[in-house]
Amino acid sequence: MATRQGVGEDAGHARYTYRLRVSSTAGNALLAEWARCRWIWNECCARSKKAYADQEACGPARLDKMLTEARAANTWLRDGSSVPQQQTIRDFAKSRSKALKDIEDRLPQRQRAGMPKHKKKRSTAPSMNYTQRGFRLKGGRLCIAGGIDLTVVWSRELPGPPSSVRVYRDSLGHWYASFVVKTTVESLPATGRAIGIDWGVRESATTTSDAHDLVHAQHGGNAAQRLARYQRMMARRRPKRGRPTSKGYREAKRQAAKVHKKVARQRQDTSRKWAKRVVTDHDVLAVEDFRPKFLAKTTMARKAADAAIGATKAALIEMGRKHGRDIRLVHPAHTTMDCAQCGARTKHALPLSERTYTCVTCGAVSPRDKNSARVMLIRAGLNPAGADRVRAAGRPVRSRREPGIPFR
Ligand SMILES: [Zn+2]
Repeated sequence: MATRQGVGEDAGHARYTYRLRVSSTAGNALLAEWARCRWIWNECCARSKKAYADQEACGPARLDKMLTEARAANTWLRDGSSVPQQQTIRDFAKSRSKALKDIEDRLPQRQRAGMPKHKKKRSTAPSMNYTQRGFRLKGGRLCIAGGIDLTVVWSRELPGPPSSVRVYRDSLGHWYASFVVKTTVESLPATGRAIGIDWGVRESATTTSDAHDLVHAQHGGNAAQRLARYQRMMARRRPKRGRPTSKGYREAKRQAAKVHKKVARQRQDTSRKWAKRVVTDHDVLAVEDFRPKFLAKTTMARKAADAAIGATKAALIEMGRKHGRDIRLVHPAHTTMDCAQCGARTKHALPLSERTYTCVTCGAVSPRDKNSARVMLIRAGLNPAGADRVRAAGRPVRSRREPGIPFR
């Protein structure tokens, strides 16, 4: 249940994304490469479907052979670089084996990764992956296989040599390069403090430290009205079946995409700033391993809260790893039912409207989310009363409870 990230190791890999300035020649070349990759992906889909029906294997080796044959038979495929095409095969094989594993593991339908799907020309944004031998950084420019030269907007420094790059276009038609870079831990001074973090709808994050609670920023809520307006506009201007889309429809769609994008950026900004503060002030973080599906029901507000929590959790984990903090992900089951004082569990889950936790066993009364945040600490093997002094005389704290056994 609890996973750890030690100090002094490498922090793993991180993505660094930059805007690209793409000339019309380069843009056309990218789209041509993408068309070839998309064809290969769809060919993989067809082969895999047939293989699945015939109960035959359809692993990377077989798909590789398919690519070799297809390139031999079609000149237009050979016109493109083999690097992104091979990577397409690998990406396909990876998502296929993930889907097969989920079926094998008998995961419930809605938790399963679906089989890779056919990519439609109109509704799939171009995205290509290049391994090390498929790209070069030369004089600040990104040169990718197939002789495509791209100007990178270096908004921040790349911390090391990248091992791969994804070149993609977003819903607004902007191109980006996302580099994968090996990162090392940037140590921060030890603070001797631990924090428990519980995610929620009203407060995005409730923590065991009052100074670190994060109020839900309502980014999505504020944008919802504007979004609804553009969506109505799109509905009005939607073309009849089989007819081309109108300029007005495309414009409304673009505006809706812009609103989405802005919300995502605002969320990320808020999340990163908060995460930096939490990580700077604490050595150990006990974080609820939130699964979005728990809250996502129908309302727009809930969905927005879900997305905000997802972004915040991701930012916190990334920031914690970057600075070598001890992050313990805690299984979310029953956290609202346990008492942080005595460990008793109530018989029924508290309804979301009930904001106060009252323990029938020891009589402790505390705000519901604060109780949950303290339960996080306890489940991660930390002492909520001594949360300020987790490292007595520099001795690393040891988990007193076995991770995986719910606190009782
Ligand atoms: Zn109690």
